[in-house]
Amino acid sequence: MTELAPPNSDASQEIAHQSRVAIVGAGISGLSTAYYIQKQRPDLQLAVLEASTQPGGILQTVHRNGFLIERGPDMFITRDPEAMALCKEIAFDDQLISTNTAFRGAYLVHRGKLQKMPHGWTMMTPTSLWSIAKTPLLSLRGKLRVLGELFAPKRKGDEDESLASFTKRRLGQEAFDNIIQPLIGGIYTADPDKLSMNATLKPFVDMERQGDGLIRGGLKQLRQKKGDTTSSGARYGMFVTPKDGMQSMAEAIVKQLPIRSLEYNVSVTAVTPHENGISVTVDGESTPRHYDKVVLATSSQITSRILKDGYPELSESLKQIPLAGASILSMGYPRSAIRNPLDAFGVIVPIKENRPLIAISFSSQKFPGRAPDGHVLFRVFIGGALQPELMDWTDEQLIESTQQQLEELLGVSGEPLFTEITRWNNTMPQYHVGHVELVDSIEQQIAALPNLEVAGNAYRGVGIPLCVRSGIQAARNVIHSRPADQF
Ligand SMILES: Cc1cc2nc3c(=O)[nH]c(=O)nc-3n(C[C@H](O)[C@H](O)[C@H](O)COP(=O)(O)OP(=O)(O)OC[C@H]3O[C@@H](n4cnc5c(N)ncnc54)[C@H](O)[C@@H]3O)c2cc1C
Repeated sequence: MTELAPPNSDASQEIAHQSRVAIVGAGISGLSTAYYIQKQRPDLQLAVLEASTQPGGILQTVHRNGFLIERGPDMFITRDPEAMALCKEIAFDDQLISTNTAFRGAYLVHRGKLQKMPHGWTMMTPTSLWSIAKTPLLSLRGKLRVLGELFAPKRKGDEDESLASFTKRRLGQEAFDNIIQPLIGGIYTADPDKLSMNATLKPFVDMERQGDGLIRGGLKQLRQKKGDTTSSGARYGMFVTPKDGMQSMAEAIVKQLPIRSLEYNVSVTAVTPHENGISVTVDGESTPRHYDKVVLATSSQITSRILKDGYPELSESLKQIPLAGASILSMGYPRSAIRNPLDAFGVIVPIKENRPLIAISFSSQKFPGRAPDGHVLFRVFIGGALQPELMDWTDEQLIESTQQQLEELLGVSGEPLFTEITRWNNTMPQYHVGHVELVDSIEQQIAALPNLEVAGNAYRGVGIPLCVRSGIQAARNVIHSRPADQF
């Protein structure tokens, strides 16, 4: 049970009985905020204002020709506990399935060929010296450089650093180009020269600060967890998904909310201060609505636009969190059309390979029930911060190029049974160096505004559990007004 304990201050005050609260955006962040507010304070008049016609935001599932296609996220991590805890609270946890243990790890493209991720290499920590010695992903010089991490000096100072700078310093250029850029940069669809270590990969910064470094720190963690070293790449064993798709999770949360609290086709254009509360202007409505408190659970750029007139300084700060885009092509094939054994969860592609794709996920290998028997579902990611020009490609260009890549990399022949294209323009927040300080300053500005809160993936993490966490925090702040020094 997640209790919304008040901030640790006598100065905090609980929101008045029957107050009107609006949440803008019904993605996982907005829905979590709404759930935790109504759970603790069912007396409040809650309105969730959503511009589209359905809940879930990026969580979108499509059923087609017997395939289950995720347009956005396809799983969430259980290590950060909030999403799992929410599923338990709403009795949805029996719907969750884990990744298929028959396949783990990922392929990397190296000099045009597929190579398995070295065993025991988890995110940034190589923990099997034997697999480093054996991997074809690194030259002898590159391997020695990785092993040299054991003796790399601690960095002086504690200012933020980019993923590229940190990795090249600790593990060398080759490990960066051939493993870390595609593995980590791909997860964040980010430019590794800009991606903030402190905002996204702090545990690895801490390993260096504590004097262990990545190899010793990784081994230490392994010993502590008594985990196995046979998995590689992203830690899939820790991931789950609803068997009927991610959207079913959003729908399950909606069922917990008061009837009629969700309003669809309501696009908020402005939020401005109004007497003791807040005015909300909705596209197509001549009179603004009034609420006692408003939570904006939209992307950084949309939130910035909504706040432009009423809160210009805050709007400017939010504008500094940029977004990147990506397209996802979901393609179904008969298994017989594919030569590759598909004995992994997918393929990740270094930018150095100069191919028009970030990654290929073997969706039907990751989870059961994603494709009919004898068929395979691929999800191909294209674009991101490093190849933004690919967002301008037409559907025909995307399909032709992807078919060519699937043929070259996986031996896929013939036409797909179907192709489902989703374009996520300006959707992925980019946590650049200095992000933590920027968010600290945004939170301080918001703490001084008693009627306004924000939630979402722009601030303290993009993954679904962290979006739920942001909703829990926003709900707590709505219920318990707190003075500015509470952050
Ligand atoms: C392609 C992709 C794959 C991903 N894969 C994973 C994954 O596998 N696992 C994982 O943990 N995370 C993943 N993520 C990240 C995660 O999905 C997102 O960070 C998270 O879903 C964001 O939720 P949100 O509620 O903050 O925002 P959103 O889902 O964007 O919700 C915002 C909502 O606000 C609404 N809205 C926008 N403007 C207005 C307005 N003016 N008025 C009213 N409503 C408005 C939108 O319609 C939307 O419903 C992925 C993200 C993407 C894009």
